[in-house]
Amino acid sequence: MPTSTSSLQTDTIRINELIDDLVANHDPDGDRFEFMGAQFDAGLAWVRFPVGKGGLGMAPQLQDVVDQRLDAVTEHRPSFFHLIGHGMGAPVLVTHGTEEQQTARLRPLFTGEDIWCQLFSEPGAGSDVAGLSSRAIRDGDEWVVNGQKVWTTVAHVAKWGMLLTRTDPTAPKHRGMTYFLMDMQAPGVDIRPLRQITGEAEFNEVYLTDHRIPDSMRISDVGDGWRVALTTLMNERVALGGAIAPRDSGAIGELLDVWRDRKTAGSRDALMKLWTQAEAARLTNIRAYQNRTSGTPGPEGSTGKLIFADLNKKIFEMATDLLGPNAMLYDDYSFVIPEGARERDRDPRRRFLRSRANSIEGGTSEIMKNIMGERVLGLPGEPRVDKDLPWKDVPRG
Ligand SMILES: Cc1cc2nc3c(=O)[nH]c(=O)nc-3n(C[C@H](O)[C@H](O)[C@H](O)COP(=O)(O)OP(=O)(O)OC[C@H]3O[C@@H](n4cnc5c(N)ncnc54)[C@H](O)[C@@H]3O)c2cc1C
Repeated sequence: MPTSTSSLQTDTIRINELIDDLVANHDPDGDRFEFMGAQFDAGLAWVRFPVGKGGLGMAPQLQDVVDQRLDAVTEHRPSFFHLIGHGMGAPVLVTHGTEEQQTARLRPLFTGEDIWCQLFSEPGAGSDVAGLSSRAIRDGDEWVVNGQKVWTTVAHVAKWGMLLTRTDPTAPKHRGMTYFLMDMQAPGVDIRPLRQITGEAEFNEVYLTDHRIPDSMRISDVGDGWRVALTTLMNERVALGGAIAPRDSGAIGELLDVWRDRKTAGSRDALMKLWTQAEAARLTNIRAYQNRTSGTPGPEGSTGKLIFADLNKKIFEMATDLLGPNAMLYDDYSFVIPEGARERDRDPRRRFLRSRANSIEGGTSEIMKNIMGERVLGLPGEPRVDKDLPWKDVPRG
């Protein structure tokens, strides 16, 4: 139900008081973990989350009040490395985690003491992630996991991984999976970097060999992994495509900067077309955000992700066109594990190369269109001949 204007005003006043207290009592230039821990304790981590879990149970759009004020006074803000924990791990824990899991994990996730990664994709299971083959077998109070994951972003710096794995090969594919939180630094985890088109190795292959996970780290019931995975995936699409940057900032702001320096005859019309699309996407994301609470976002997240991927590619294609032959001089193609490499982020040549991944990561654009066709337009679904077969009987390449 939409929040009334008067309660929004009262909550805004309360949030501003809490920010005043936070900044007065905790040095915004001091220790990162101390400051962000205090932000979490004040309920200013995710205001839409329940009280005691880093939130205040307030309307999601009020997070803007927190973000704008803290952006202005502190550098202790979430970075690229926290995107998976903040965007996906936190909503998964709040929706499906036990009280103990939430108490132990949410605070260090928010402060950045613990970096999180997502272990879903496998060499034989990407778009059809429910077909995955890695296996967990129960051994007393533990599970023993074997298998290979791939494209695991930030696994090399992560403490916790969200693992989707098969626990019952005799059940149909969607019903035989279980979801765990796994310790990425424990024995039986071999992480190998993969180099991307930008030269960086944001993501990795992860080999799991007799890796043991206590049953207390299972999220939700045995066999309920797909439901938890859907919460993860829907939030991932929002995290990737649902960002609400101020007008003229983000990718379109970067294109504006290039255009001001390098404008060519006739380029104004192309720029205005992209600017209008970016603004329409921004306003649509604001509307979707205002309707959202803490759990699993609906198909609007997939729409936002589809539009973001297409737009981002077009924006950086235009930026490289404006740069002309200079665009080919991507001079630092060294193999970088990107802990400190984000300062290159705003280089339009790097942004052009990185944007090619936007229509693949978090689900491809074709899959986003399938979701929109089925869940928004009500078109008939794709034929799914393996849906009710035991997973072990499904032919695999
Ligand atoms: C930068 C980046 C970061 C990533 N980070 C992670 C991560 O942290 N964790 C993780 O688990 N994964 C991650 N991924 C993997 C990503 O989720 C998969 O690459 C993606 O889901 C596609 O799977 P795939 O690569 O196996 O391609 P495939 O599924 O093999 O698809 C190949 C082609 O077939 C098309 N296709 C497949 N099925 C259909 C269909 N039913 N209808 C129409 N077209 C179809 C696809 O659109 C694609 O064009 C990352 C990927 C990238 C690029």
